[in-house]
Amino acid sequence: MEQRTFELRFDSIGGLGAHAAGQILATAAVLRMGMNGSHFSSYGSEKKGSRIRSFIRLGSAEVPIRTSAPVERPDAIVVFHAALLRDPTTLAGLRRSGTFIYDAPPGPAPAELAALPRAARVIRVDARGIASAERSRPNAVLLGTLCGAFPFLRERDVLDALTEEFASRRPEAVASNTRAFERGRTEHEVMEDVGHAEGDVPAAASEPAWGYLTQPVGGVVPLPGNTAWNDLSASRTGSIPVLDREKCAHCGVCDLVCPDLCFVWGAGPAGGRFERELMGIDYRYCKGCLRCVESCPTGALAKTAETAGLADRLRVPLFPGIVG
Ligand code: SF4
Ligand code: SF4
Repeated sequence: MEQRTFELRFDSIGGLGAHAAGQILATAAVLRMGMNGSHFSSYGSEKKGSRIRSFIRLGSAEVPIRTSAPVERPDAIVVFHAALLRDPTTLAGLRRSGTFIYDAPPGPAPAELAALPRAARVIRVDARGIASAERSRPNAVLLGTLCGAFPFLRERDVLDALTEEFASRRPEAVASNTRAFERGRTEHEVMEDVGHAEGDVPAAASEPAWGYLTQPVGGVVPLPGNTAWNDLSASRTGSIPVLDREKCAHCGVCDLVCPDLCFVWGAGPAGGRFERELMGIDYRYCKGCLRCVESCPTGALAKTAETAGLADRLRVPLFPGIVG
């Protein structure tokens, strides 16, 4: 390794194990490989289903790590869910000769990856497919892929750290994690002619548009309703709540527990039992946390595998004026 830190960013959704993977990697580097290392993650208030970034810095024993800032110019980015590729900040800051690893089944490369540098190495691995087949987690697969891509990350040490993490808590997971790790190490695909950009990918702005010096007087938000354009569909990990109106008692418990105001209400029929009735769900804002399913007292909401186009077909728009 050259005399600077090697920096990685894991881009993920809460629940796929990015934080644990970062912790295992840094632990293996520091305690087993004699390197310097640091790791931390950033995530929102509701971990499951919301965006998470995990930052790892590694250096030889002679290279001190003096910062704990987020990694903005990574040498490697690992993406735990292909849906995150729709967000340009997922690619942000990758160095021109960096490595980009993403989870997706075989198929054409997404058009978004053209924004990667021409010289970048792009690696695809079906992490969730392998994890499902081996009864493991995507993070075990992706750690294996990382070790395959970067031989200085000694696979034995990383695998031992992974095993140690689970040996006491879930000993039955050790064998399946080992298989998943090994398949990730050997079954990934280096893709050709994917990135078409020159130079590094520009880093995302590290400063918020509004800070204590630039915010409007009194903290006024001059653009009301601006979060109506949010699209959280990329945060889902494979399941959505589906409403059966026949079973619904219109009690509103689902709306109380939903962190993202996804439920759409309308007038009940004249002379009916309810003045307001639950019409459906706006999946544009749904991150798939499934709190509503757990809370519904009548079973009107069911956890359902999200197949292609299902959410679009069932969506009841909260703001019908918003297109797309
Ligand atoms: S919690 Fe269940 S029964 Fe109550 S309004 Fe929501 S879907 Fe209907
Ligand atoms: S609709 Fe249900 S699954 Fe979607 S964000 Fe709200 S509580 Fe979570």
